[in-house]
Amino acid sequence: MTVDLLAKYDPLIAEHAGLLSAGIRDPFGIVMDKVLSPTEAIIKGQHTILLGTYNYMGMTFDPDVVAAGQAAIRDYGAGTTGSRVLNGTYQTHKECEAALKDFYGMSHAMVFSTGYQANLGMVSTLAGKGDFIILDADSHASIYDGCKMSNADIVRFRHNDAADLEKRLKRLPAEAGKLVVLEGVYSMLGDIAPLPELVAIAKAHGAMVLVDEAHGMGFFGPNGRGVYEEQGVADDVDFVVGTFSKSVGTVGGFCVSNHPKFEILRLVCRPYTFTASLPPAVVASAATSIRKLMTAHDKRARLWEATRRLHGGLKARGFRLATETPESAIVSVLMPDQETTALMWSTLIELGVYVNMSRPPATPAGVFLLRCSICALHSDEQIDIVLGKFEQAAQMANLALHEHA
Ligand code: PMP
Repeated sequence: MTVDLLAKYDPLIAEHAGLLSAGIRDPFGIVMDKVLSPTEAIIKGQHTILLGTYNYMGMTFDPDVVAAGQAAIRDYGAGTTGSRVLNGTYQTHKECEAALKDFYGMSHAMVFSTGYQANLGMVSTLAGKGDFIILDADSHASIYDGCKMSNADIVRFRHNDAADLEKRLKRLPAEAGKLVVLEGVYSMLGDIAPLPELVAIAKAHGAMVLVDEAHGMGFFGPNGRGVYEEQGVADDVDFVVGTFSKSVGTVGGFCVSNHPKFEILRLVCRPYTFTASLPPAVVASAATSIRKLMTAHDKRARLWEATRRLHGGLKARGFRLATETPESAIVSVLMPDQETTALMWSTLIELGVYVNMSRPPATPAGVFLLRCSICALHSDEQIDIVLGKFEQAAQMANLALHEHA
């Protein structure tokens, strides 16, 4: 008899079927028939405002970014068909790494095929047998998977809790190698890390520090490098990981560092070595976007303005939000339970607003969210439409709103 290896997913299959039979839109069935701009698409024939794309700086349709991709596909072809360490390094990849080095003011940059692979590769390669990885409990799946792939011992500390980090570091052998992994912005709740405290504790205990700035790149800090720049801890951060799939507007991941031995990682980091490199068009677009982000001061200001408008507007209407004030360009709306979350999400789609629906295990235990990510190109008018639709959806889903907020 063959044991059905997929049987373990039966409860999930039943839960999904239950949602559909209750008339909820299929959360995995969203198809963008047409994308009109970074903030608007046609979904199932309906004009929809996009408010869950992480396209913070709206670079996906930037004419220079698009033109760079078009030129590269013409000059270098559609793909590299090879690993970075074999035939997959083109001039475009080197230019992209040069743009990253300039953007971050660092001496080394390594481009991966996704941000997921960048974390998987960096975490698993830096820490090996006998080392310790100390990570925030709310870390992204790619960091957890990097931990699993390493042979290091794993220690978790309570989310953003400096005292807990210190307590756990104190218990570890002084002579062991240690990697503390942090994120600038935590993407579920949209809160930011108190990096000066956390990094100081890590350094005091002899740990190296890696910060994932996936959701901070582009709009935190005077040069848009991330929360670590804004909070003034650049000198104590050993590795910064990031992605091209958010502010940069394409796809890909990277790590930048000033470590003098950094380049050896190209040979020993399996998620870098044993996979094909990004297509030339992607890295050419990314390089152009990264260089434009260096001077995108007006866009950064606009992003914060639009974020404050959405956060303030939702709060004023009685929605419960994950952060008291807007800490990043992610505004997470707390939902009471799974059913209400699904119904609210589905109703918003019917009303022409796309947001992200999140639940455990992606979120911390017991937390259900509708997550909004704001784009610098959202107009005040679009934000006001969204606020009206949230109010309408709450009525239709019988969501209790606070009397005053
Ligand atoms: N790190 C964090 C914090 C993320 O949120 C994400 C993606 N949501 C990633 C890494 C992975 O990025 P990518 O989409 O490039 O794989």
